Amino acid sequence: MAIVKSEAIILHTAKMGETSKRLKLYSRRNGVLTLIAKGARSPKSRLGGMLETLYVVEVVFYEKESRDMQLLSQVSVLFAPKRLLKDAERTVMAMACAEMIERFETAQNPNAVIYSLLHATIRAFDRLEIDGRLILFAFQMQLLQHLGFAPEMNRCVACQTSESEEWKFHIEEAKLYCKKCAQAVHSGVFLQPAARAALQCLATVPAARWHTLQVPPAAFMDIFAFLSAFYTFHLEETRGLRALEVLKQMKALEKNTFIKRNK
Ligand SMILES: [Zn+2]
Repeated sequence: MAIVKSEAIILHTAKMGETSKRLKLYSRRNGVLTLIAKGARSPKSRLGGMLETLYVVEVVFYEKESRDMQLLSQVSVLFAPKRLLKDAERTVMAMACAEMIERFETAQNPNAVIYSLLHATIRAFDRLEIDGRLILFAFQMQLLQHLGFAPEMNRCVACQTSESEEWKFHIEEAKLYCKKCAQAVHSGVFLQPAARAALQCLATVPAARWHTLQVPPAAFMDIFAFLSAFYTFHLEETRGLRALEVLKQMKALEKNTFIKRNK
């Protein structure tokens, strides 16, 4: 039995037995892992208040190869996203990001880049001045890059132009077509130039500069539609994912605000 120390993000927690908690974590060194915190829900426990979803912690646990679940020994909080957790919508969006990591098999292995992305995403959600929807979009676009599914958004796959009044993205083929070439393409998601430009930025702007992202509200709908369709088709694990439900809800919300604004 080895003692392991690692920085980790709490993806979710569940009650276990009378007083314990079962934690699903994404750890920098070990990838996705399940830890049991014995007695964590008892009023006397020194773990109380430290084991909350989306907290960044340092855990010490006993690793036994033969067990799927390991025993938590010590924990200290490195970052508690308290502003984020006070905002219901941001919490759901951040939890959707955590859920994506938990679902993707490829993300279950240790991956320092994906770990840093999730860490930076939680910190960004805690900065209330950044639009939460942009954080979710940027996370999704950048996760695609790190998982090796990055959609090519730079030019038309048929004629190589990088200028068009409208674009069409063929989801199944993962190919972008300009307006002219799209006439011969029967299915796909339409993207206005602003949405296509925004998707390029969202895929590349590092988290430290997400506060500078400028996306016109009119492009949001196209981005929602694109990401929903792309994730549903290419990453089967996301079927039934809370994130997509959240996206749908936000889509409805955006429609409402759009209608209100134009009255
Ligand atoms: Zn073309």
